[in-house]
Amino acid sequence: MRIFDPHIHMTSRTTDDYETMYAAGVRAIVEPAFWLGQPRTDAASFIDYFDSLIGWERYRASQFGIAHNCTIALNPKEANDSRCRKVLEQVPRYLSKSGVVAVGEIGYDSMTPDETAVFQTQLEMAAERDMPALVHTPHRDKLGGTVASIDMVKRVGINPGMVLLDHLNEVTIEPARDSGCWMGFSIYPDTKMDEERMVVLMQRFGLERIIVNSAADWGRSDPLKTAKTAQAMLVGGFSDDDVDRVMWRNPVEFYGQSGQLRLLSEDQEAAFAGNTINRGEKP
Ligand SMILES: [Zn+2]
Repeated sequence: MRIFDPHIHMTSRTTDDYETMYAAGVRAIVEPAFWLGQPRTDAASFIDYFDSLIGWERYRASQFGIAHNCTIALNPKEANDSRCRKVLEQVPRYLSKSGVVAVGEIGYDSMTPDETAVFQTQLEMAAERDMPALVHTPHRDKLGGTVASIDMVKRVGINPGMVLLDHLNEVTIEPARDSGCWMGFSIYPDTKMDEERMVVLMQRFGLERIIVNSAADWGRSDPLKTAKTAQAMLVGGFSDDDVDRVMWRNPVEFYGQSGQLRLLSEDQEAAFAGNTINRGEKP
């Protein structure tokens, strides 16, 4: 089983996580730029963070046989601090880099006027460059935030096939599906969506434009939720090919639209597997 986790914040995870992810079949990830917990007070802090996403974290993932990609943006929460908004001038120079596969996470947190302005500016950056956009739907007033996000997609005029609406649930899946956007679901240990509910949604709505991620970060989360959802799919009657579609081909298709998606070649994968045998550390 090969797994692509299209939303995971490895900066806040350990090397043990990389090892268990590899053992579970994870071979590629997307790490969206997001809020680090401690609010930043200057654009320069974002630059160092963006550089670590395309530099250090990519290198760290490669040591564990995992291709690391990222998305770059000013996140919705910090869009409310005028000291942070200066980073918008710097975002475009990152968007043309290899391994940067979308503008994101953008969207709404508290649905303020500043968030609306920053969301629109960055969605326009994606549209101008014909690049995917990763849109985070808010944790509070999820339906209102999802509908407002879809309205923004229409207002900017970006192709909905280039937009991934993330952190959806049973309440927001229908407007998301009707919008033509891709639909992302984050599987958590004890909130939002779990594996069994996700399987029920896929049985009801099918697998087209469906993306599943762990969204693991510095909070209570589980970097193996993609693999656990894959197992739940098999138990629920889906085939190996269905699992491969959701856990690999769908995210590759969506983020591949950037033209900048990095995956390991077969030679690289074989070399890595060989190295781990030689080191006596085969997972
Ligand atoms: Zn996230």
